[in-house]
Amino acid sequence: MEDVIILGTGCAGFTAAIYTARANLNPLILEGKQPGGQLTTTSEVENFPGFPEGIDGYDLMDRLRKQAVKFGARVENAYVDKVDFSDPVKVLYAGERKFEARTVIIATGAAPRLLNIPGETEMFGGKGVTTCATCDGAFYRDMEVVVVGGGDSACEEALFLTRFCSKVTLVHRRDELRASKIMADRTLAHEKITPLWDSAVKEVLPDQEGKAQSILVENLKTGKESEVSCKGVFIAIGHIPNTSAFKDIIALDENGYFISEPGSMVKTSIPGVFVAGDCADHVYRQAITAAGMGCQSAIEAERWLAELN
Ligand code: NAP
Repeated sequence: MEDVIILGTGCAGFTAAIYTARANLNPLILEGKQPGGQLTTTSEVENFPGFPEGIDGYDLMDRLRKQAVKFGARVENAYVDKVDFSDPVKVLYAGERKFEARTVIIATGAAPRLLNIPGETEMFGGKGVTTCATCDGAFYRDMEVVVVGGGDSACEEALFLTRFCSKVTLVHRRDELRASKIMADRTLAHEKITPLWDSAVKEVLPDQEGKAQSILVENLKTGKESEVSCKGVFIAIGHIPNTSAFKDIIALDENGYFISEPGSMVKTSIPGVFVAGDCADHVYRQAITAAGMGCQSAIEAERWLAELN
């Protein structure tokens, strides 16, 4: 049986691993479907303390992984889809595989939210609809694209796409961006970016080959519909926490985020099970806050194990 199992290899998971490894708890990290977490799909990270020149998201995660492994953390690929936390020994299942631990740190992150409109899933992947400009932006060189959303992610995607694309239309359902002022100002000042306010995307329309050709947009104030031609549709409307394996087992809020116990952000309704990062935090959702929660959860796990002994 393991002392500590950590689920997830984003900033939260690896920070928890660094701390628990340095506390000689020999943590086992189970890596899910997105090794390295969301930062591996972002470009430059400018706000992680200690990197005045910025750092590539993938590089940052690679450094965190090396740091955790250096102190003895073990990483295995296993996507946990079922758990049994009814006994003091916590049981986790990844398909046919079974793991047991005295304490568990859940740092499973969040996944991009989708619009759920016709054409979206049909053209997802190589046919024009995507949630990752860093991954797919270069495929749209000299083409017109749209970005959907009004937060920091949408602004970041739009700005990144200006490196490749001839025109970026930013479609937002209100007439004011949710993004931080610095990002909003930078985005709206860019000559290649045109905002389309008060607008909802109703459908992605295909060309004869089944690839995205345009979007159908409704103006939410006038009800008028129009088509915007685009080869790429980049959806950046927030995230859904990866917590489905814990539904009805650990207390979750109505959006699926873990509810923390009074007095600690990282304690769950199950003693000995801790949470960290975007699966538990819909307010701050930063790499550095996820790392901070990873540290907190590791310290709580250490205290929990000390009390058991
Ligand atoms: P977010 O802040 O929740 O913004 C989501 C955006 O999508 C909002 O503008 C929202 O519109 C819109 N939206 C949501 N559901 C929609 C729907 N069904 N149809 C159309 N539009 C929809 O998400 P985020 O941009 O991913 O950012 C998440 C967190 O990460 C934030 O705290 C952000 O500051 C942070 N972040 C920081 C950076 C950075 O600092 N470099 C980069 C990326 C993200 P409304 O505004 O009308 O609600």
